[in-house]
Amino acid sequence: MTELHTKLHDIYDEVARRNPGEDEFHQAVYEVLNSLGPVVDKHPDYVDRAVIRRLCEPERQIIFRVPWLDDSGDVQVNRGFRVEFNSALGPFKGGLRFHPSVYLGIIKFLGFEQIFKNSLTGLPIGGGKGGSDFDPKGRSDGEVMRFCQSFMTELYRHLGEYTDVPAGDIGVGMREIGYMFGQYKRITNRYESGVFTGKGITWGGSQVRTEATGYGTVFFVDEILRSRGQSFDGKKVVVSGSGNVAIYAIEKVSALGGTVIACSDSTGFVHDPAGIDLDLLKEIKEKRRARLAEYAEARGSSQLVANRSVWEVECDIALPCATQNEVSGTDARHLIESGCQIVAEGANMPCTPEAVKYFEDAGVTFAPGKAVNAGGVATSALEMQQNASRDSWTFSDTEARLAEIMRRIHHRCLATADEYGQPGNYVAGANIAGFIRVADAMLALGLV
Ligand code: NDP
Repeated sequence: MTELHTKLHDIYDEVARRNPGEDEFHQAVYEVLNSLGPVVDKHPDYVDRAVIRRLCEPERQIIFRVPWLDDSGDVQVNRGFRVEFNSALGPFKGGLRFHPSVYLGIIKFLGFEQIFKNSLTGLPIGGGKGGSDFDPKGRSDGEVMRFCQSFMTELYRHLGEYTDVPAGDIGVGMREIGYMFGQYKRITNRYESGVFTGKGITWGGSQVRTEATGYGTVFFVDEILRSRGQSFDGKKVVVSGSGNVAIYAIEKVSALGGTVIACSDSTGFVHDPAGIDLDLLKEIKEKRRARLAEYAEARGSSQLVANRSVWEVECDIALPCATQNEVSGTDARHLIESGCQIVAEGANMPCTPEAVKYFEDAGVTFAPGKAVNAGGVATSALEMQQNASRDSWTFSDTEARLAEIMRRIHHRCLATADEYGQPGNYVAGANIAGFIRVADAMLALGLV
């Protein structure tokens, strides 16, 4: 780890001391503070008025019991979380994650990242995140519904279109949003569309929200390529994961002329040199909720490779779209040796600090999740805008807005990196630009 600016060192130490055992949260805070040295030199106010210390402390953290009945009639107990991190720019906004690995440290890292990501979009949304250690895998539809209803029976009192607006994340898609929105409506007796995003089109959702994070990721990479006079044409791309973000990243890469030759899930990866068969992948992952082994079996020409990393597959562009810390230092070395030129994070913090350092040293372009995957939350903000005006836009209109937002985020990152003397550094650009907008709002709002 590089040494932090002296004024930021104590702040980081305090975060680590006051939030013991929350490794992912520490990692996310360190990564942002590491970029802020030149900013506090220029604007000492941000330290003197404790803006950064306040940013590292969530406005509110809610932890609650979620009891529910499984199909055998047995009582199950999970833990629910909502971390309302920062509302200087708008209502708390960020997804819910249902995965057995969820604990407070994961939700806080995601909520902290969300503050800067949402700020970067330029839209009026604050940062938050939530979820549960509930594992939807292998659960029946009825069990998922009962869990969601119990989760919302507690959480509803903390939500509202002007207060806190959740969406999906790992393990939470349109089905789960439907069950939670339904329970919210039932308890409050209000059809408050703007309280959730990621809704179905017939009940207040927005076109392109399902596709937004994956498409936005690819639009961002397309901007990187364009800035060098290149395109996706003929590029070999590896995508990790095969969930919501991965599937729509694969779709847009293909539409722009690239070929996605491998993707993965938690059981392994498939290498398909002719290009992933997207219709088959959607059928297996979205409709059947099955494992990637079934893809390999149905495809015939590819095999599921277990116990090895998808990053061993040679590519020009790598898009990690699964989960945090999935790209290790060893993976980074494989990618560098195989000639990969661009790594762009579709997931949140998928690259370890060691991997990022290797990319920087090797001159591989590295673009961080808070910029690259911001298209998801940006389209959520567009969904809120449509809900507020009781309007709905066409697919092509919404997609054009998403593409424009990603173009602006890319420009903002590069312009800010230039301004702070680090040309081409997307990490510095994203962290500094995201930070300044929210920090200035916090200063303007008084001591909050
Ligand atoms: P999904 O649940 O739809 O898909 C997640 C994918 O990642 C699955 O293929 C899953 O495999 C794999 N995965 C998850 N956890 C692990 C793990 N511990 N080890 C290996 N593989 C894993 O989630 P999303 O696609 O929505 O989210 C993916 C990433 O993108 C997350 O980091 C999320 O925070 C981020 N993101 C999502 C946004 C959205 O709009 N959905 C917005 C911005 C960021 P398996 O099914 O086998 O578990």
